[in-house]
Amino acid sequence: MRKIDLNNFQVATSETARDINSRIMLNLVRKHQPISRADLMRHSGLQRSTVSVITEQLISERWLREGEVGQLPRGRRPTFLHLNEDRAGIFGINVRPFMTNMALANLEGRFLEQESMATPTSPDEFVKQISERVHALMKERPQMSYEGIGVSLPGRVDLSSQKFIFAPNLGWHEEDLKERLERATGLPVDLENEANACALSEFWFGRHSDSVSNLIAVAVSEGIGVGMILNGQIVRGPSGLAGEFGHVSINENGPKCGCGNHGCWEVFASNSAAVRYYSDAKAAHRNGKNGKNGKNHHQPGDVSFEDLLQLAEQGDLLALESLDRMAHHLGRGIAMLVTGLAPDIIVVVGEVTRAWDRLGPIISDVVKQRSFTHPTTRIIASGPAPQPRLRGIIALVLQKHFGAPTIA
Ligand SMILES: [Zn+2]
Repeated sequence: MRKIDLNNFQVATSETARDINSRIMLNLVRKHQPISRADLMRHSGLQRSTVSVITEQLISERWLREGEVGQLPRGRRPTFLHLNEDRAGIFGINVRPFMTNMALANLEGRFLEQESMATPTSPDEFVKQISERVHALMKERPQMSYEGIGVSLPGRVDLSSQKFIFAPNLGWHEEDLKERLERATGLPVDLENEANACALSEFWFGRHSDSVSNLIAVAVSEGIGVGMILNGQIVRGPSGLAGEFGHVSINENGPKCGCGNHGCWEVFASNSAAVRYYSDAKAAHRNGKNGKNGKNHHQPGDVSFEDLLQLAEQGDLLALESLDRMAHHLGRGIAMLVTGLAPDIIVVVGEVTRAWDRLGPIISDVVKQRSFTHPTTRIIASGPAPQPRLRGIIALVLQKHFGAPTIA
């Protein structure tokens, strides 16, 4: 049960009930399509006349379309209803420190177009390049109407100003990206933190039971971001900064982090950490062999995380040890989430899941040892969806039509 926010509420009008029922209907069609009106009555418990009025309206607004005619032994043959998936196009943009991916998706979240580019070095260049691509793609499909643009960012977004406020791994400064991108494209823009986008992706598109309403995404890349959906809602906190578990210090004598602290969780458990473990081990190994007391620091650009995964797949011992160490530290942080928040599911997202067969059990063991409450949280690797951030950011825009309405 939510408390009524007396600073931000909408009183119920006669349209409110129809609005809610119409969203329920859209979701029922999405889940059970193709579906007849009779089955919609059965699933919703609404009267035939109500179902008929709402479906007519949704058809006239082009949210639903009528498909084939069903086969019944006798009586009137039902016409099945489908989501009109090409009713609206949604642009998803996933900004990562080096690479930016972009997709155009339909109402079902299916990608119609996909492209990628090197991440522009400045927000100015970003707005220019993205709006050019958006205009070009819209021109290619003039029959489609466009709902909006969702942008997933490796940083946090202030909810009230929609300014991008915290992005230690991207190097862009506080920016009013939303307004500038809206002006350049003419479409509504939503910004979201990448870990929240991953949580949304798993929540909307993951194959979980409808009773799952507490789900946490741990997005592992150059850093670690945590996105939380608790009681079915994304938790952002008043400033949009909630979820920065990656920057909770777990060892104050640890290496310095991009945020200024020492020994943050991500300094021990991110892709960059594994690369550092490997380079240090390699240097130590080399020095040991030569008997020299050489420099023990790796040169940046030595190996990438991708290289490390490949080395591990080939059975390279140092690479395997580095990944094991990373997994051990991932387990430490995940144990904190399990003990503190006891969600239904924790989903780990990132390249690291490629080695899940080996690393998953290490993480589970650490969590078992450290989380004395033993809740029933399932720890899983994100599914085969190749672009969880893109899918999640598209889900964010879709939520406006399929999510529960915010009243009172
Ligand atoms: Zn930090």
